[in-house]
Amino acid sequence: MSRLHVIALGGTIAATNSGTDSASGVTPSVSASEIAAAAGLDTLPGGAPEVTFDQVAQVGSGSITLGMLDAVVASARQARTDGARGVVLTQGTDTLADSAFVLALINDSGLPIIATGAMRNPTLPGADGPANVRAAALTALDPSLAGLPSLLVFADEIHSPLTVTKAHTTSVAAFASPAAGPLGWVSEDRVILQHMPATLPGTLTVPEAGGTESVEETSEPIPPRVALVSVGFDDDLAYLAGLPAAGYAGAVIAGVGGGHVSTRAIDAVAALAEKMPVVLASRTGAGAVLERTYGYPGAEIDLLSRGLIPAKMLDADRARLLLILALRAGVPAEKLPEVFAAFRG
Ligand code: ASP
Repeated sequence: MSRLHVIALGGTIAATNSGTDSASGVTPSVSASEIAAAAGLDTLPGGAPEVTFDQVAQVGSGSITLGMLDAVVASARQARTDGARGVVLTQGTDTLADSAFVLALINDSGLPIIATGAMRNPTLPGADGPANVRAAALTALDPSLAGLPSLLVFADEIHSPLTVTKAHTTSVAAFASPAAGPLGWVSEDRVILQHMPATLPGTLTVPEAGGTESVEETSEPIPPRVALVSVGFDDDLAYLAGLPAAGYAGAVIAGVGGGHVSTRAIDAVAALAEKMPVVLASRTGAGAVLERTYGYPGAEIDLLSRGLIPAKMLDADRARLLLILALRAGVPAEKLPEVFAAFRG
């Protein structure tokens, strides 16, 4: 009999009305085992897996921390020792793509962690959580995906953590991979793959997360602060000057187009790059940042010559997460370009 480990962090998939007053909204309260029970995992093809559970947190996904994801990895490591073949992670969708990417970098458990959630909470007609958990379980147990650290499964589509993004506030098909499309899908309880993701770099280091007790109750260190700066039309980015004093250790500039800023912003960007690592990405959300096309002031050749690090194929959100993890792992400034170079553009 195969063994599946289900880890839960909260989110819409777990959210119900706690009182009689529906105006007060839904909050995460349904447990990991209740979420799994609704997915009918006992009728999976190949026989009912033995399912184990770990409620690592019960929060809205905007409040998920790096420490919680460390605890998810620790839980997956223990599950592997106990004989599990795959892991399903349920959480809120708002940061589901972020978690999948972080787990792609730090999951050294040897088990794939398949992240999923729901857009409609369990009190609503057509709640999508159970179907998503079932598809995620099938993906987690599929032998062809066993070597991958993480994937995101939603609305029967299987997405790479390198490309997936939440692209709609309410649609049940909220997730898309604009740069590459999904890797495959789940149909009639079978995983159908069209592509495999490009090899993910090795793990960046996972400090011991102190077991799998609820992270909410423990105080965890604040990871290095990295600012995400989306460049607006005609923006001089004057506020960048305040980042060092505010405690930031790095920044990601999501430039317009291929990675550009206004000529009026060049001085602020260059001054920041003298004080901390600054990564250049694009605000477009798909494609690689340019490195050798445009020669005008404020374009990518100018900015990279001032010490900015190209984000390669990573979008700005993923570039920020990678920089946080690299700084947390103690990667020295001169080695940071190599960390990003692994994500060839
Ligand atoms: N809207 C969210 C969700 O889909 C809430 C959250 O991310 O926690 O789960």
